[in-house]
Amino acid sequence: MIIYETVIGLEVHAELKTQSKIFCSCSTAFGAEPNTQTCPVCAGFPGTLPLLNEKVVELAIKTGLALHCEIPPISKFDRKNYFYPDSPKAYQISQFDMPVCKKGYLDIDVNGSKQRIGITRAHIEEDAGKLVHQGDITTTPFSLVDLNRCGIPLLEIVSEPDMRSSAEARAYMEKLRSVLLFAGVSDCKMEEGSLRCDANISVRPAGQKEFGTRIEIKNLNSFRALERAVEYEVKRQIEALEDGEELVQETRTWDEDKQITRSMRSKEEAHDYRYFPEPDLPPISISRERIEEIKARMPEMPEQAQMRLVRDYGLPEYDAAILTLSPETLVFFDDCLSRYPDAKVISNWMMGELSRLLNQSNQDISNCKIKPDDLVQMLRLIEDGTISGKMGKAVFEEMFADGKSPAIIIKEKGLVQISDEGSLLPVIEGIIQANPKVVEDYKNGKDKAVGFFVGQIMKSTRGQANPAMVNKLLKEKLDSL
Ligand SMILES: [Zn+2]
Repeated sequence: MIIYETVIGLEVHAELKTQSKIFCSCSTAFGAEPNTQTCPVCAGFPGTLPLLNEKVVELAIKTGLALHCEIPPISKFDRKNYFYPDSPKAYQISQFDMPVCKKGYLDIDVNGSKQRIGITRAHIEEDAGKLVHQGDITTTPFSLVDLNRCGIPLLEIVSEPDMRSSAEARAYMEKLRSVLLFAGVSDCKMEEGSLRCDANISVRPAGQKEFGTRIEIKNLNSFRALERAVEYEVKRQIEALEDGEELVQETRTWDEDKQITRSMRSKEEAHDYRYFPEPDLPPISISRERIEEIKARMPEMPEQAQMRLVRDYGLPEYDAAILTLSPETLVFFDDCLSRYPDAKVISNWMMGELSRLLNQSNQDISNCKIKPDDLVQMLRLIEDGTISGKMGKAVFEEMFADGKSPAIIIKEKGLVQISDEGSLLPVIEGIIQANPKVVEDYKNGKDKAVGFFVGQIMKSTRGQANPAMVNKLLKEKLDSL
């Protein structure tokens, strides 16, 4: 039996966060009425000339620095020719042989093992428009075109074929997203198409040096789709090879409804696009000084933040990795930490209850109703014994649902922990007296008896008894009998 090895390389298109398009002053805002954010330049009228948006170059350099890339002093634009109605010019302005960034890397962590994935290059290009088909594409009498996306600036980040599993591909994509977010170069909203991914996938017998036939999967716009598509495609390719079929190099698309990949077209080669230097734009020249100046303004990157959390606050690497997945999460954590000294306690609540509730309600931390100050207030109420940790969870859920402060919730629900002996002793004594048989069990060394009593006491105080105090008083009482 042949054992196969999977080889994956990813091409990620990130929309760069600019106010206006790459070669004209049209807005890049998402969600406008079709064809309302267009002008003769981005609509490809003959005789118009592109003018480069300087911000695009700055964001590309920032990305390159964040990905440890070389930034060559000169790069240039090229025309990538293709005919399709989403591109009124019948070519896309892109970069062919002199990209703005090259030879970088991204370190990923999969199940505790670190790996370095090479970045071949990152190049600037313009996005195309969007076709809106009336019904099924094969039978539709007509299609509509929306040119609002034409000229939206993109950075295409191309990895080396260094990934070997769907888990690695997902980890790469997640890490890349967090790097782009921290660098502030893209808002990475996959549901709005500002971060998209194509995957090049092949399989080969383990140990073979040559790559297998490469299949490109388009239209992967969620982490889940990427993971599923890789898994499906690897299985499909291995089965085809086992059946003695020969794989052809082609482009396939991911069908989200059916959870399968489908053939789109045979793969085009670079020469099919007849690239040539863009005559309407001068080369981009980037000085050493400019790079240094941008480098000096770079914000903290996820890896630096991760190191800081481990080194300065003693958090486990696992916690640090999760807390640095998005800048908003890290800001929330840092904000809590500036008000409350125990990093691990904060981390536990964020990774536990908070992330559970966020996932459950499909919300993002940036629009969460709980603010860092509320969480800290609640931690203090647990610390000073006003409420137990268990009650804290109930309070936290209320805070999450309606954004009230913990003190108000506790007051409204009468959720104060009973920590005084005077109130607890009569309850404990009553329950002991009512259960002579269990007292007998306790005397005979049955540990379960204590659990029974604690349960009864908590029940009769509606969970408000201070558990530590109950345990202490109960022991004393039982041992004095
Ligand atoms: Zn325009």
